[in-house]
Amino acid sequence: ATPLAIASGVQTAAGRGIVVAAETIFEDAPDVDIVVLDKTGTLTEGAMSVESVHVEADGSADSRVVPDERTVLRRAAAVEALSEHPIAAAVVDAARECEAIDGDDEADPQDDDEHTADIDGFERHARGVVGLVDGERVVVGHPDHCRDRGLSISPSLESRLSAARAAGDVPVVVGWDGRARGVIVVGDATRERWREAVETLSDGREVVVLTGDEGAAADRFRDVDGVSEVFAGVPPEAKAETVRRLRTRGTVAMVGDGSNDAPALAAADVGIALGSGTELATDAADAVIVGDDLEAVAETFALAAGTHRRIR
Ligand code: ADP
Ligand code: MG
Repeated sequence: ATPLAIASGVQTAAGRGIVVAAETIFEDAPDVDIVVLDKTGTLTEGAMSVESVHVEADGSADSRVVPDERTVLRRAAAVEALSEHPIAAAVVDAARECEAIDGDDEADPQDDDEHTADIDGFERHARGVVGLVDGERVVVGHPDHCRDRGLSISPSLESRLSAARAAGDVPVVVGWDGRARGVIVVGDATRERWREAVETLSDGREVVVLTGDEGAAADRFRDVDGVSEVFAGVPPEAKAETVRRLRTRGTVAMVGDGSNDAPALAAADVGIALGSGTELATDAADAVIVGDDLEAVAETFALAAGTHRRIR
């Protein structure tokens, strides 16, 4: 009867868009004490979008030092075209749109991957990317990522960073040749009904939010019913360590995007990946929610509990 209960649990889950990758989930999920929710792509919508682009306002008339917004966006997009991060997709989309609107670039409709055309020396890091564009080593990402790669950030751009954070957006620094040249502000809208999803999950469990961002982008999850703790400014490579530390307090489930968060998913007792079909990363996850539906996470727990009762 036990294999039958599991088989029927797997089937019921599948009917709700939950793909069980490890049958151990039926045993472990009912014991979960702490649910860790990643921010980007989990509490927020998978799709981010560019709100605005800013260049340094230092009054210099030298266009080689102070490039225009379009150059900043185009160079950033050239590098981001090789990244899978939700921020990268937003930047690439905005560059495409801006070229379509400006229309003076003799845009070749066949040239669909023009942003990858002259990209070389691409590096993917935890908090950003690097690539060669127009002969420059272009650095794109979190301010710390850019500073670590030798870019200085002027006070005028620093104030853009603070303003974006205060608004709950994510500022992305773009620079080359030792200086930040611009800031791309990326909006990271929360999912519909994320509060309800958190409240359901918090019934009988502690809910913790984990994010690489800081400021209002992270703070908006504090003082929310059901959220007991927010870990902000945690770089992707430190997320697995945070999960391991939480495991000293109890059984931990990690909910994330499955690619960027794979090590953290693997470090948890129960790893649940939210996905939208194409980039299903089942390797690190015990369950994958294919409908990209945050409320299905609580359903996964309920279903596992029901199945587990029948296994015993
Ligand atoms: P979260 O913790 O919200 O899921 P991530 O861990 O994926 O976010 O990334 C943390 C931060 O690292 C992002 O907010 C961004 O500042 C930076 N970052 C990571 N990858 C990229 C990229 N490809 N382009 C720009 N910024 C990036
Ligand atoms: Mg993430």
